[in-house]
Amino acid sequence: MPQPNQVPPALTQLTEDEKMLREAAKDFAESQIRPRVQAMDEAAELDSELVTQFFDMGLMGIEIPETYRGAGGSFFMSIVAIEQISRVDASTGVFMDVQNTLVNNAFLNWASDDIRERYLPQLATEKVGAYCLSEAGSGSDAFALKTTASKEGGDYILNGSKMWITNAREADIFLVFATVDPGAGYKGITAFIVERDFEGFSVSKKENKLGIRASSTCEISLDNCRVPEENVLGEVGKGYKVAMDTLNEGRIGIGAQMVGIAQGAMDAALKYTQERKQFGKNIADFQGVRFQLAKMATNIETARLLVYNSARLKENGKSFLKEAAMAKYHASEVAENVSSLAIDLFGGYGYVKEYPVEKYYRDAKIGKIYEGTSNMQLNTISKLLLE
Ligand SMILES: Cc1cc2nc3c(=O)[nH]c(=O)nc-3n(C[C@H](O)[C@H](O)[C@H](O)COP(=O)(O)OP(=O)(O)OC[C@H]3O[C@@H](n4cnc5c(N)ncnc54)[C@H](O)[C@@H]3O)c2cc1C
Repeated sequence: MPQPNQVPPALTQLTEDEKMLREAAKDFAESQIRPRVQAMDEAAELDSELVTQFFDMGLMGIEIPETYRGAGGSFFMSIVAIEQISRVDASTGVFMDVQNTLVNNAFLNWASDDIRERYLPQLATEKVGAYCLSEAGSGSDAFALKTTASKEGGDYILNGSKMWITNAREADIFLVFATVDPGAGYKGITAFIVERDFEGFSVSKKENKLGIRASSTCEISLDNCRVPEENVLGEVGKGYKVAMDTLNEGRIGIGAQMVGIAQGAMDAALKYTQERKQFGKNIADFQGVRFQLAKMATNIETARLLVYNSARLKENGKSFLKEAAMAKYHASEVAENVSSLAIDLFGGYGYVKEYPVEKYYRDAKIGKIYEGTSNMQLNTISKLLLE
């Protein structure tokens, strides 16, 4: 029999640091984000005061080492924080998710010392980042991108446009994927760090969306945009690896966002069903309703375990691609189903904006689309099963 201290901890057992961050993120979400959720959703805009608070709380640079003014935390800590923020509001959830799991991770894994010194302190303390891969004609087939980068002296000149870029309205630092050789296929793709005020760069149309409305999603134009060669992230021609590596990790973040949405809808349904009376009783006293609540909670737990397991595998340096794809695929199904059931349990009140659950349902839908659609997750899972 293994001794208790040799038994691996349960997936939901957190370290003291993880618990502390989870509680801090939860308190912040309840006290600062919750009162602003409806207004931000209606205005389709993040409250700028909140943006500053996210930096002040250390939530925008969780894994950035303290030497670069970050919080010096772990990937799992980012996941726990994204879940707690998304439990209250998925727009602010994806705001910090893109910064931590895509942009900061790309810098941490691929940047030279010079780039780390120039950009990591800014990303940890004041500057929002955005991740620019998709284009109008290339989504699932991301490496069919058309944006070009041609060398001119010590600079690259970028031309093209990007679509669907999260955080584009708030961001100052953009990670842009372009090809240095359109004939070379994915082997021409290179990652460039572009600053908002670089010549030839502009943020254009902002999308008017179904859900995560306060999160900005914009088009980006690169019109002879001049980028110094020192701003290539990783090697020229290795941008596809930067993109694949970051998206593999990023998917776990989206899984956490979806678990947060599902838990937020569940919490609202638990409270409401114990208050709403029909036939002289709380509706939570009806077995039909109790069983619905039990199934919702069970499904959320399965999604959370998949998300936590893939995050732990990644953190332990183990292979996690299949598990991350499963986590994102399943968590987005669960978020959609649980938030839909929450509307059912609220009856007519679930259908109106005065109550919180219709927003969870709208917000859940994006989980099946970004950072690889559900079909693309199934492609990855089946490929790894059958290889
Ligand atoms: C709100 C929002 C925020 C976003 N944020 C960002 C961001 O910050 N940065 C960024 O770079 N991108 C971002 N995206 C883009 C997002 O990643 C893409 O929309 C997504 O990858 C899907 O691409 P697509 O829209 O071109 O759909 P398509 O690729 O055209 O897919 C359409 C349908 O075809 C299916 N399909 C396609 N190929 C296959 C296949 N081989 N097998 C089976 N089915 C297939 C898909 O599953 C989907 O159902 C965002 C999108 C949205 C809506």
